[in-house]
Amino acid sequence: MIEDLFSNNLRWAAAKNRVDPEYFRRLAAQQAPEYLWIGCADSRVPANEIVGLESGELFVHRNVANLAPPQDANFLSVLQFAVEVLKVRHVIVCGHYGCGGVRAAMSNERHGLIDHWLQPVRSLYKARAVELDAIADEESRVNHLCEHNVAAQVEAIAANPFVEDAWRRGQPLSIHGWIYSIQDGLLRDLETSVHPPKPTGRGRRGRAATGRGR
Ligand SMILES: [Zn+2]
Repeated sequence: MIEDLFSNNLRWAAAKNRVDPEYFRRLAAQQAPEYLWIGCADSRVPANEIVGLESGELFVHRNVANLAPPQDANFLSVLQFAVEVLKVRHVIVCGHYGCGGVRAAMSNERHGLIDHWLQPVRSLYKARAVELDAIADEESRVNHLCEHNVAAQVEAIAANPFVEDAWRRGQPLSIHGWIYSIQDGLLRDLETSVHPPKPTGRGRRGRAATGRGR
């Protein structure tokens, strides 16, 4: 019942207040999260919950298939605000196995508007068709593309001008690619992290920005 959500909310707010009477007053005064989370809209991947972070600790952007499209005003607004105003130290792209968006991008069926949104994933599938189509099991084929998709978003974010400018300013900011399994609730680091370029002398800092760290 939809009314239950309000009674749930009353209970939740009361419980928070009981543990820490200053909780909401403190949160209302400012937000200073260290992390930007880019995750899938899937209801089974609740960002704060799976990494055990409280309100105010995680700046969250979610869309179908956890994409970071360089032309999407929604995503770009979130990224710029997180990097330039909140000055988060980590951007986490978190995909999940069995992603319905990734699965839809692999099929030949039409699904509507979402087919346009998923175009980058379809392109990624085409680019890796030889490798992916050699995997006989459909589920593991989808899961492999889920991983590639996360890596591609990490790469796109590392090449984003907002991120490049932050690195040029010397701002500490790392980009990470993780994947979540709904089956066991566990996160896995795909080891595609990109860290700020090390200063290597005048005029070279910007160029090192594409270097990968593990
Ligand atoms: Zn998904």
